[in-house]
Amino acid sequence: MPDCSRRPWEPVARCPPEPITRLPGTGRHIALTVDDGASSEVIGAYVEFARDTGARFTFFVTGSFDGWTDHRAELAPLVESGQIQLGNHTWTHPALTELSAKGIADELGRTKRFLKKNFGVDGTPYYRPPFGYHNAAVDAVAADLGYTMPTLWYGSLSDSGLITERYLVQCARKYFRPQTVVIGHANHDPVTKVYPELVEIIRHRKLRMVTLDDYFAS
Ligand SMILES: [Zn+2]
Repeated sequence: MPDCSRRPWEPVARCPPEPITRLPGTGRHIALTVDDGASSEVIGAYVEFARDTGARFTFFVTGSFDGWTDHRAELAPLVESGQIQLGNHTWTHPALTELSAKGIADELGRTKRFLKKNFGVDGTPYYRPPFGYHNAAVDAVAADLGYTMPTLWYGSLSDSGLITERYLVQCARKYFRPQTVVIGHANHDPVTKVYPELVEIIRHRKLRMVTLDDYFAS
């Protein structure tokens, strides 16, 4: 069970005892989380999207992808201001449940050091296990590194692989709901063509985009 007792701030919401899939409590918040970063261009487009619209979201960084350093200069100020949050999504995106304790620690530890060096944050306490695969052993190693909050999701834009823009917007219509955690990916460019549609869904439904820290920390 995650230990939230050592946090130096007062949580605005009770720290959930289980992996995060939704935002506890009531309201019209939505936590968009964007994973991987296989495409440097898509990372750049997301950063521009944030700058253009004020959108707040969380990147779960797979550290081995070059795009995170390619866009460090534009991304760093947004991380600094808190508009974009960074979490740990391992170094090479393995199924952590297949690895030894040392293997798990290496994967999370390398991205932890990468984030700290490049952005001055380490993403704790949030980590996202690749494919959502985690178990008590994985969570224990992660917690030793400060990642006490395995962060899963409620709904997905289904764009870890290449899909059509139309399908992506359908997924957004389905899952952009109050108090949800939604997963997208910075891997393929369809999402970069439909930002206006995503913003329209969020505005029409009166949803408020939040980072995980926005919601769980203050
Ligand atoms: Zn992933």
